[in-house]
Amino acid sequence: MKYYHGIAVAPGVAIGLLSVVANNQLFIPRRAIDANQVDDELRRLEAAFERAQTAVSQCRDKAQEELGGQYAQIFEAHLLFLMDPNLRARVETAIQDDLVSVEFAVAQAFDFYAAQLRKLQDATYAERANDINDVKNIVLRELLAVKQGSVVDERYPVIVAASFLAPSEAAKLEPAMTLGIVTEQGGRGSHTSIVASALGVPTVVGLGSFLSDVYGACLAIVDGDRGQLILDPTPEVVDQYEQKLERQHEHQRRLEEKRSKNYATTPDGVKVAVEANIEFPYEAKTCLECGATGIGLYRTEFLYLAEKDGVMPDEEAHFQAYKEALATMGQDRTTVIRTFDLGADKTPEGRNFAREREPNPFMGLRSVRLSLRYTDMFRTQLRAILRASVYGKAAVMFPLVTTIREWRQAKMIFHDVCEEFNERGEPYDHDIALGIMVETPATVIMLDQFAIEVDFFSLGTNDLLQYAQAVDRSNKEVNALYAQESPALMRLIKRVVDVSNLYGKPLAICGQMASVPANVPLLLGLGLRALSVAPGMILQTKEICETFTIQECEEIAKQAWLMETADDVRIFLNNELKKKVSNFAYD
Ligand code: PEP
Ligand code: MG
Repeated sequence: MKYYHGIAVAPGVAIGLLSVVANNQLFIPRRAIDANQVDDELRRLEAAFERAQTAVSQCRDKAQEELGGQYAQIFEAHLLFLMDPNLRARVETAIQDDLVSVEFAVAQAFDFYAAQLRKLQDATYAERANDINDVKNIVLRELLAVKQGSVVDERYPVIVAASFLAPSEAAKLEPAMTLGIVTEQGGRGSHTSIVASALGVPTVVGLGSFLSDVYGACLAIVDGDRGQLILDPTPEVVDQYEQKLERQHEHQRRLEEKRSKNYATTPDGVKVAVEANIEFPYEAKTCLECGATGIGLYRTEFLYLAEKDGVMPDEEAHFQAYKEALATMGQDRTTVIRTFDLGADKTPEGRNFAREREPNPFMGLRSVRLSLRYTDMFRTQLRAILRASVYGKAAVMFPLVTTIREWRQAKMIFHDVCEEFNERGEPYDHDIALGIMVETPATVIMLDQFAIEVDFFSLGTNDLLQYAQAVDRSNKEVNALYAQESPALMRLIKRVVDVSNLYGKPLAICGQMASVPANVPLLLGLGLRALSVAPGMILQTKEICETFTIQECEEIAKQAWLMETADDVRIFLNNELKKKVSNFAYD
């Protein structure tokens, strides 16, 4: 049994078999075997080579059919290498004489031939060495039960393990087939983490190197509350976790009663809107069933991220997605459709928006900047939103607006598209509210300027924290600085609350910090009355709002305000939560 510690990004516990997604180079440790395991290892070798040969033959036939003989030859050469008796003899000798695992023997033998070719210092041979590396990975994936390419394709639910999952890869995971997610890299605020929490599966990222300890199908436990991964747990530990799972199910059953009302009321009678963040339109159904006040954030960019090979969704695809979400939520619950927040880490497969590689993509061409650069794409989306607006109550929100000029340009394009509809007499909702995400310090500083013109604000604390603390939200190296309980962030939030109140503009928070139970009293104490959370957190958020009076929340905020560090604030908030909710679910 081995424990690994990482960053907990989606709560809960999962127990199951790991399935490794090989989107990175595999590292194979030297694993010794006993003499009596040699025959088994040789049998595994035989089977893996057979499967690898089938896989390569299929690639060759596909290449022949779709691309022509010249390309098929590449795979033919791979096949010949796989069938080379010298290669096979080298692997077998290592297993029999050196008593090493088949994975290690394969890695060594292939690396040996690749190194010989590289020594020749010729570009053509170097290419061949890369080919050998590719073939090695095919065999290793067969041995390790690792999935070829990016995203898993399982017939039974598994825990997905990867070195790194891009948001576009995470978006393609099948919720019913994914028990949990664990990655070596990644930070708390990464979009991969956000998709994982949308899937509602326990997730731990930034675990550091653990894939090298995985071989074959391996039993694992993901503890999304404590940020732990346990490989090969003992039966006692599995037993402990099964009990914890049962307690969590029990808590979930108690939360059922919170579904009936579409808002929460604090014990002193203050109404709090509990909205939801969604990435996919089908999630609206869950939100409705949980009694969400509305959709506070619909991250439409996932429509692009779920596409393959850089294909952009057309107007019809946008329309169908928005129609589904709007029709599900109906006229009484607003769905805030955020225009595409692409760029930085949210770049569709095979598509590069910037003209040149960006050295600092999070500071680069992303979000509304991209909409204003690619106005055709932007207009396509806006047309689809207007067409869908007759099916429910839509609001439109622009992401990462940093200057008043960007806001005015985006608004102008929106009105221009409305004008086209008017000219054609096409129906749409003429009362769509237009708002912005508040997610940079510049926007907070200039908020009074925006407050005169926008219909509403939404606090995007994931990015606001990133830009305020100058800390990459997905980088585990600096994760300690990416703390949602940061006193600096608290002060920024307070200013946003004060300015919106002064100008009478509706304000919600849709950053991940609202989905953390212990933060809810603080946010209410700072004056927020609309929280947009991950769909899986709607019921829990209502439970917490209904536990603390506003007076208690204000006292908590007052005390937190005086604290110097995010750690102090976090410990304090967790204790306050545990004092009021003696609930093992918040262990
Ligand atoms: C945010 O930045 O807080 C936010 C909600 O937007 P995203 O996480 O999609 O960047
Ligand atoms: Mg953001």
